Amino acid sequence: MPTDLDDGVMSEFGDFIQPFQIEDLGLMGRIVRLDVALASAFARQNYPIEIASLLAEAMALTVSLSGIIKFDGIFTLQTQSDGPVNLLMSDITSDGDIRGYARFDVEAVELASVRSGSTVPKFLGAGHLALTIDQGQDTERYQGIVELTGSSISDCAQAYFRNSEQLETAIIVVSEIEADEMPRAAALMIQRMPSEDEGSIAREDEDEAWYRAVALMSSIKAEELLSEELSVSQILFRLYHEDGVRVYAQKPVQHTCRCSYEKVSSTLSSFPRDEIEDMSEDGAVTVTCEFCKTDYRFAKEDVANLFD
Ligand SMILES: [Zn+2]
Repeated sequence: MPTDLDDGVMSEFGDFIQPFQIEDLGLMGRIVRLDVALASAFARQNYPIEIASLLAEAMALTVSLSGIIKFDGIFTLQTQSDGPVNLLMSDITSDGDIRGYARFDVEAVELASVRSGSTVPKFLGAGHLALTIDQGQDTERYQGIVELTGSSISDCAQAYFRNSEQLETAIIVVSEIEADEMPRAAALMIQRMPSEDEGSIAREDEDEAWYRAVALMSSIKAEELLSEELSVSQILFRLYHEDGVRVYAQKPVQHTCRCSYEKVSSTLSSFPRDEIEDMSEDGAVTVTCEFCKTDYRFAKEDVANLFD
């Protein structure tokens, strides 16, 4: 059940998604905040600050986008491109388990870091962003793709909503990554509800309400979205107190990797045997999960077992 803002959950920072609705402005929205989940996702990686920041924003965006659709499975956001970061991947299960990683060229990132320019052209380059919903075997996989565009990863997502037959959407994603500090990312997203009235006058009012909502939203500062001192209820109150915002129950998210010896075995056995033997050392193969850096070691006889 939704509650009025006054009885809203007063959580400060943490890993969660906070849905809300503003009936008077005809919109649904959510705020996402991540900190410990990011720290855990970055723990065994050696990300330069710029890359950690890019991934943190991609993960906050993933959580935010996954809140739009009802699904039972895995929602994935992935970029593939020709820049210093050639792959960015982040996924979330319907249970709120998130993970993510960035594949990059260390030297190319160093060179790009000293250049001016915005994140997407500088670090990702040209390529695409794909959003996928996988609900398991015997279900159709949904995939939406958009070319990388604009300056940030949220610009790309916004372009996706503009290009596809989706509800009008506005998104802000921010992050704060500093050496030896808890990483933080936040996303604020609003979506215009489908119109119930076809009359042109009502339509004009609705348009006006939407523009007002977007204008109010863009008045929020990054440091406010990332502030420990401000709860999400306080942020929403600041932005939309005149419009009667209602908040729903917060949904926690947590960093968890889904890799396992069984999954890696099944992937390995899907390759031709000679290909696996070619990459082995004295017959043994070690596979490292890119998300969590766990090593899965297959001795010579394990490799033989995979194929027998
Ligand atoms: Zn893993």
